[in-house]
Amino acid sequence: MSLKTREDYLASLRDMRPNIYKFGQLIEDVVTDPVTRRVVESHARAFDAAHDPEREEIFTVVSPETGERIMRFTSVLATMDDVLANMRLKRHSFRETGSCTGGLCVGWNAMNTMRAVTFEMDSELGTDYSRRLRAWAAQCQEQCLVVAGALTDAKGDRSKVPSQQEDTDVTVHVVEKRDDGIVVRGVKAMIAGAAAANEIFVLPGSGYREGDSGYAVSFAVPRDAEGLTLVECRRPSDNREMEAGFDSPVETGITQSYLLFDNVFVPNERVFMCGEYKYTAAVIRYFTANYRACIGGCVTGQGDVMVGAAVLMARANGLSAKKFTEKLVQMAINNETTFGMGAGAIALGRQHPAGVWLADDTLAHVNKVHVATLPYESRRLLQDVCGGLVETGCFPSFADFHHEEYGHWVQKSLKASKATAESRARLARLAEWLSIGAGVPGCMHGGGSPDGAKLVVRLNTPLEAYAGYAKKLAGVAEEITEP
Ligand SMILES: Cc1cc2nc3c(=O)[nH]c(=O)nc-3n(C[C@H](O)[C@H](O)[C@H](O)COP(=O)(O)OP(=O)(O)OC[C@H]3O[C@@H](n4cnc5c(N)ncnc54)[C@H](O)[C@@H]3O)c2cc1C
Repeated sequence: MSLKTREDYLASLRDMRPNIYKFGQLIEDVVTDPVTRRVVESHARAFDAAHDPEREEIFTVVSPETGERIMRFTSVLATMDDVLANMRLKRHSFRETGSCTGGLCVGWNAMNTMRAVTFEMDSELGTDYSRRLRAWAAQCQEQCLVVAGALTDAKGDRSKVPSQQEDTDVTVHVVEKRDDGIVVRGVKAMIAGAAAANEIFVLPGSGYREGDSGYAVSFAVPRDAEGLTLVECRRPSDNREMEAGFDSPVETGITQSYLLFDNVFVPNERVFMCGEYKYTAAVIRYFTANYRACIGGCVTGQGDVMVGAAVLMARANGLSAKKFTEKLVQMAINNETTFGMGAGAIALGRQHPAGVWLADDTLAHVNKVHVATLPYESRRLLQDVCGGLVETGCFPSFADFHHEEYGHWVQKSLKASKATAESRARLARLAEWLSIGAGVPGCMHGGGSPDGAKLVVRLNTPLEAYAGYAKKLAGVAEEITEP
């Protein structure tokens, strides 16, 4: 077995059935189409890194099961070090792409989550899900497959459970059970990196009760499975797919997809949960613990690029970066807070009997709240340091910069230091992209809403026990109850 190269990866995407649409058009070649080429480029960089001695330790690992070197994003997260390595991979990936590479992390976390949950189901119910999952995961390792992870359903009315929805297709569910597999239907929404993935790993989107057992389903399908259609979501201004030159500041990017499952057949060997609703709460709990710890790595990696962009923009504006030391340091503190909080959640985690490491719930959810807050503060500081041209992208386009008649006026206007006008424009577009464009990795809702995280923190915080400490220290003898 050998590690795929960039070329092998791109060929594997080209071999798939075209089933991705945007603007009503079918994308024939996902590798070159302007809508998807940047998200593919972001993911392809992981394969370059796997063959680079300086970065291979970040992007690959020797599998303890087979002794073979595999892409790290297909590995078992067995130990604290493995999950810390997940976080480091994400930080590094953001430094190289400026944006999210969801196909390298959500599916990875989802398959590890299901290692724990299938273990529990098999032990308690006598099912055979763990063996299936291990067999499927071994294929992913052998073939270095990129796996997008799909939890989020379109959901419909948020105040109702799936079976109460007017249109039950808003949540992925089982419509038929056959001897050889199941047929599924419904919509998973906002799935990061799906267009760059070889496989889609589906998890139930929430904890369900008995009446919603048909929605308690987990499985994996090839991204081009019969009956599955992807519709890309991002607006063109987000990943600059319609723009050229410095207006399209990076060659990387992210798109999310709506996944339309129109009666997709899933063979039994690829089904890892089907109706066991009592275990859906564990799916959400284990998934969010590691995801919300490791997402600290994503926003930190992007924050590192934001600090760098602020330094260079200050200089391109003719000012010393030292003038902004306090703001730059605050940005660094914001970064390291989410990184450190995530690392702390991982360090205080535990190993599940299935042999996967699970981060500490409370700290992971606290981190999610910081992730939904601090990067916005860093973006504000980036815009503050850089000036109005970054805040609103308010300067002429690449085509105007090179216009025969008035281009030289645009160029004069953009020159502000020894740096060329074009370098200043490039940096400004990058900083704009990082602070108001596709660079924004979904800090608020990616990995779930901060309110959801706060709910868990509330549930995990023993208010009465803490009241007991205060009562004792204050020497209060009486019970002070809720009014
Ligand atoms: C950039 C990005 C990348 C993403 N990538 C992926 C991915 O790869 N895979 C994936 O599965 N998902 C992905 N998501 C989806 C993400 O997980 C969801 O956005 C998130 O879980 C929130 O769901 P929602 O967007 O439907 O918001 P909503 O559920 O509509 O929430 C909106 C607000 O309403 C509140 N709310 C919702 N329901 C209730 C209720 N019943 N009672 C009270 N308050 C409520 C929430 O707390 C929140 O404040 C991504 C999202 C983003 C933005």
